[in-house]
Amino acid sequence: MAIKAEYIWIDGTEPAARLRSKTKVVAEAPKEWPIWGFDGSSTNQAPGDMSDCVLKPVRVVPDPIRGGDNVLVMCEVMLIDMSPHPTNTRAALREVAEKYADQEPMFGIEQEYTFFSDGHPLGFPKGGFPAPQGFYYCGVGADEVYGRDIVEAHLDACLTAGLTISGINAEVMPGQWEFQVGPVGPLEVSDEMWLARWLLYRIAEDFDVAATLDPKPVKGDWNGAGAHTNFSTKAMREGYDPIIAACEALGAPGKVEEHVAGYGPDIEHRLTGLHETAPWNEFSYGVSNRGASVRIPWQVAQDKKGYIEDRRPNANMDPYVVTRLITNTICSAAS
Ligand code: ADP
Ligand code: MN
Ligand code: MN
Ligand code: MN
Ligand code: MN
Repeated sequence: MAIKAEYIWIDGTEPAARLRSKTKVVAEAPKEWPIWGFDGSSTNQAPGDMSDCVLKPVRVVPDPIRGGDNVLVMCEVMLIDMSPHPTNTRAALREVAEKYADQEPMFGIEQEYTFFSDGHPLGFPKGGFPAPQGFYYCGVGADEVYGRDIVEAHLDACLTAGLTISGINAEVMPGQWEFQVGPVGPLEVSDEMWLARWLLYRIAEDFDVAATLDPKPVKGDWNGAGAHTNFSTKAMREGYDPIIAACEALGAPGKVEEHVAGYGPDIEHRLTGLHETAPWNEFSYGVSNRGASVRIPWQVAQDKKGYIEDRRPNANMDPYVVTRLITNTICSAAS
């Protein structure tokens, strides 16, 4: 039977890139999935008179939707001379990941997102608002939880695809959810995050629901959507001084601006200092503190080893950029 390979890539849409994909049908699975091309003039990646862009496979997983021997093929976008396309943020991460591989950096990313149906968040009554926040986080029951069938289908799909999902939970605002990827290395967590996002959109599509990574989907007294990024090196997993050194490195002069600029568009609308966030332009860290930029989990302070949580990245961040910034800042300070 013919095999369907869904080639997936990241486009050039500003300010937040989008996922694109198309299907290649082959008679039998090749040993190595070949490069392919697409029309970059339709994805904000090329002018019409020089429209060809190249897809280079970097990670192939079983396709949980089509099943059988069908696959999902995560790709990097290249120019026709096979150098990285300017929108290819994975290429820069490759270099940093390789440079600091001896420190064994690991990431776990918490992806928050919001379901929308008919232009309003799932669970919001048409033209109005549900009861204020307070019962929705990790809730149960039809009056508190919206979209669980989609969330369960997505979790199963991610597991069937072999992605390193470590958990899911309902979030503080109705229709808002989270899944966590990791802990694995910087390239792995980022490739898996993009694949998990693609699966989320694709599965929600079957329920006529749109999943969005909008960092502040409802203005006012409603939680935004973030992508808390948990990080450790081998040294941090073995002792406490490197944990403190990592926090200090993130707060060093110039680093706050550099990181926040790469943590997702519209970050200042989410990091207001309210709703479990710190102000975007001030750096702080602390044990158990969900109002700090960086949190040292209670258990980590207790064990005197483990990881730190950078709470600043937006839901709409590019994991290739965020993991590059964090790896570079913390590992260069430690070497
Ligand atoms: P919370 O909601 O309390 O902030 P979660 O349970 O949602 O925490 O997420 C914790 C994340 O930390 C998970 O993604 C997990 O993979 C990650 N994690 C656990 N240990 C490590 C580690 N040593 N290095 C990096 N990430 C880690
Ligand atoms: Mn065509
Ligand atoms: Mn979480
Ligand atoms: Mn959360
Ligand atoms: Mn968190």
